[in-house]
Amino acid sequence: MATHKRLYNIGAILRGLSITFGFMFRRKPTIQYPSVKKKHAPRFHGLHELRRYADGKERCIGCELCSSVCPANAITVIGAENSPDDRRSPGERYAARYEIDELRCIFCGMCEEACPTDAIVLTPRFEMSDFRRGSFIYDKARLIVPADAGAGAAPDERPGGIPGDLGRVAQIKSTVDPATGYDATWRGQILKKQRKGLALQ
Ligand code: SF4
Ligand code: SF4
Repeated sequence: MATHKRLYNIGAILRGLSITFGFMFRRKPTIQYPSVKKKHAPRFHGLHELRRYADGKERCIGCELCSSVCPANAITVIGAENSPDDRRSPGERYAARYEIDELRCIFCGMCEEACPTDAIVLTPRFEMSDFRRGSFIYDKARLIVPADAGAGAAPDERPGGIPGDLGRVAQIKSTVDPATGYDATWRGQILKKQRKGLALQ
């Protein structure tokens, strides 16, 4: 009886190993991330970007439509009047402050749909992990295409999906510097008052 049981166990082990060996010769579904990145669907909704016109002017006219339509209440826009000496956008107003709390965002794309000037777009960028809650509040400086980086293109016009300036976001995303980080954002200040964010060291 005991010998039969032992033989039965060997059969079970061989059956298990046959599954392992079978998978060794199949095509691997895993990729060598982060050196190899997965190609997303063309309409993938990732991190936001504020775009410019070809002449460098900001597309955003501070109309707050994106903020009104956002179901997650993730966008804060505070508009200001353009002045003849300092014209930021072609409209009467521009966004003096523009912030998106990416932790609240559900990446529905309604802000993109509502925007009359195609200023706010969702890019295919998805690498935004961090250890600090405040790091997920993206202010205008982190969202806007740099003036010297061209006009920016809608995500579905970008060949290959993920844009070449991916490193820029990581480079400027630190919130350790209070001048550009957590304390400088409208939502960051509120979160800190409510003691919902992580305090700065
Ligand atoms: S993608 Fe949706 S949830 Fe996110 S900021 Fe835009 S409207 Fe709000
Ligand atoms: S991003 Fe578009 S919808 Fe939002 S405030 Fe600017 S112009 Fe208006």
